[in-house]
Amino acid sequence: MLERRSFLKLGSLGLSALTFSGFKSETETRKPIVISTWNEGIAANKAAWNILRAGGRALDAVEQGVMVTESSLNCCVGLGANPDRDGYVTLDSCIMDEHANCGSVAFLERIKHPVSVARRVMEKTPHVMLVGSGAQQFALAEGFPLESAKLSESAQKAYENWLKKSEYKPVANIENSKNESAFYAPKKLENGDWNHDTIGMVAMDANGNLSGSCTTSGMGFKMRGRLGDSPIIGAGLFVDNEIGAATATGQGEDVIRICGSHLVVELMRQGLSPENACKQAVERIIKIKGAAAKDIQVGFIAINKKGAYGGYCIQKGFNFAVCFADDKNFLIDGKYLL
Ligand code: ASP
Repeated sequence: MLERRSFLKLGSLGLSALTFSGFKSETETRKPIVISTWNEGIAANKAAWNILRAGGRALDAVEQGVMVTESSLNCCVGLGANPDRDGYVTLDSCIMDEHANCGSVAFLERIKHPVSVARRVMEKTPHVMLVGSGAQQFALAEGFPLESAKLSESAQKAYENWLKKSEYKPVANIENSKNESAFYAPKKLENGDWNHDTIGMVAMDANGNLSGSCTTSGMGFKMRGRLGDSPIIGAGLFVDNEIGAATATGQGEDVIRICGSHLVVELMRQGLSPENACKQAVERIIKIKGAAAKDIQVGFIAINKKGAYGGYCIQKGFNFAVCFADDKNFLIDGKYLL
């Protein structure tokens, strides 16, 4: 009921996203559905949707979906992304299914699809997380090829630029920043958008089962060995098949501080809509950070068991992609608090 009420309230504000709501009645569940972070979510959703529309499992959808982004050299996710301060690309990823099975890899080098390695960790080992050379060793044993250590052309250029000043500080709004030597090292794409470092995806399949994935190169020019929230179950991603699923992007340190994605799911358990749950998580970060909140960006997105979706961020510039039909794969600007 709470959900429906906030849905109506938003509708009265004339928010365009709700024209796509597709809900015919209060009791209807919208499934399948997939949502993911940033502009890249459109292409990733498309791949995920192909699986979901055929009756496939949400777990397969969220793996295949973010693999599109990991493969793209035009994005800050995957091996084409910006390196750490020492010039190495290190990748972090996790995945979680409807049975609370989860797998994660972090500080993984020279492997193209960390999300698939994370899935193998989940399915083939008694563990949840493998890192560094151990994760790479496992990936090679599983048949993943060792890719070149060479940086992509754009990453090489960005790294050389960064080395000129070696500044190490966050940029408040990745999407609007033009500071090439900054922490996030944004890069302008041909279509005029700005890059970032992560894709998070959550989905519900036709059987009503939830799964999620999150994959990243981490922040550009990070300290060697630094991990953010993205490979950490509960921080960058959380799925509870009874309630909903959430994922995060932005300054990982501050997502970890509040166990962000787990918090969003727990807030939905208390009856909040996905959007309001994301909003409260963002509010908690702002409260902790105080005035420093204006220097960072964090965005959350979430779905619940009814197929309702929502997202919220600290400040303007975050968006996410929502797909629940062949002709419904669209971007929504995240609402923001500052
Ligand atoms: N959350 C990622 C990290 O902290 C960065 C991002 O979302 O762009 O590594």
